[in-house]
Amino acid sequence: MGSADRSHVALLAFPFGTHAAPLLSLGLNLASSAPHGTTFSFLSNRRPVSLPPNSAIKFYEIADGSDPEHEGHVHPEEEVRVFMEETPGNYKKALEAAVDRCGGQRVTCIVADAFLWFVGDIAAEFGVHWVPLWTGGPCSFLAHLYTDMLRNKIGTGKEADPDEDLQFLPGLSGFRVRDLPDDIVTGDLTGAFASLLHRMSIEIPRSAAAIAINTFEGLHPDIDADLASKFKKSLPIGPLNLLNPTLNQPDRFSCLAWLDKFEPHSVAYVSFGTLAALTEAELVELASGLEQSGVPFLWSLKEPGQLPAGFLDRTKDRGLVVPWVPQAEALKHVAVGASLSHCGWNSVMESVTSGVPMLCRPFLGDQTMNARAVSHVWKVGVTFENGTMTRANVAEAMKKVVVGEEGRKMRERAAAIREMAAGSVRPGGSSVQNFKALLDIVIAR
Ligand code: UDP
Repeated sequence: MGSADRSHVALLAFPFGTHAAPLLSLGLNLASSAPHGTTFSFLSNRRPVSLPPNSAIKFYEIADGSDPEHEGHVHPEEEVRVFMEETPGNYKKALEAAVDRCGGQRVTCIVADAFLWFVGDIAAEFGVHWVPLWTGGPCSFLAHLYTDMLRNKIGTGKEADPDEDLQFLPGLSGFRVRDLPDDIVTGDLTGAFASLLHRMSIEIPRSAAAIAINTFEGLHPDIDADLASKFKKSLPIGPLNLLNPTLNQPDRFSCLAWLDKFEPHSVAYVSFGTLAALTEAELVELASGLEQSGVPFLWSLKEPGQLPAGFLDRTKDRGLVVPWVPQAEALKHVAVGASLSHCGWNSVMESVTSGVPMLCRPFLGDQTMNARAVSHVWKVGVTFENGTMTRANVAEAMKKVVVGEEGRKMRERAAAIREMAAGSVRPGGSSVQNFKALLDIVIAR
């Protein structure tokens, strides 16, 4: 087969936070289902640890504008601003390297993180399809798509009523103005993140061949319908953690064996993802609340130095604090009865697809809408309404969700969502069908 007869799929990652992981997960699935000879190139600022050297997917590095001397100490907004200055040249350069390395085999489709709104222009230049992947929650995606309409209707300053329900958009019924991602009805949309998301909301409906989303049909039927009417093809292909369970991580701190000691549904899993950071004061409140509740806990915490004196010792029989947990696996363990998180979308998907109710402490971006979906739309958890955690509200929420009758009902509802998600990735399920439709677009030449 000559190189002109083969497809070359380029996967363009947004290189911050956990964005690259779901794109890689999708890429690995596409690579294992594509015809023999299809080339896959993955472009990001660093090689993902979960991409084995002998993988069918080849890695190409892009410049992200960062200064190695300040790594880890730059504000995310600044990190994105500097990165955007490198685009689109950095991706174009890496695409040229990918074409060179596979003997001049031209790129035939670009699958890219939805944040990379400018990829439509690159795809048009190459004369190929562009398929963005939205890795966050579908509610916030819809809110971004309606940014201009929301700003017109609600206003952009003090006139906005934070408690107004967004029911005038059927997909956002039950969400309030205060749940919207930052900047949609506040701010001036000129910041690095805000302008990126605003451009995205304009460019994707305009020129994407399809939109792939890490969710599954039926989770938000009104959003499914709205997105289907907005795009050439709207393809909910998730949950990606179920579609590609092969990316299991090593259990370096024996968390799963530790969980084996506990009764079913008795342990709280605690993690705030890879970016969100609690203040020292809130961390102390959380620790004290966990201690007061008496509920066993497994806590993923990189820097335990700020925990209250004696906390680890006093809770050693029922608490494990480690810097990294194989989270998706841990949430599936029968001992886990609740998950306390920042409501990053990956964590939400991993919790609900494991049937685990949630305690939500959102910080930014899509997290507030994800938390609202958990506590008020699906009713599988509680949100700390005043924002921060106190020892009293943590202890109370733990008792409610892990031990109480309400928690049992939440677990039943979460189990129903788990079944719906599992159905979508079974043979013939909606995500499997949508994945096939995506594969057809991706491998077309
Ligand atoms: N994660 C993990 N172990 C940890 C902490 C996080 O495996 O100890 C994984 C988690 O399973 C999820 C991802 O890191 O897949 C975090 O993604 P999410 O979207 O929830 O939050 P973000 O880090 O993007 O804010």
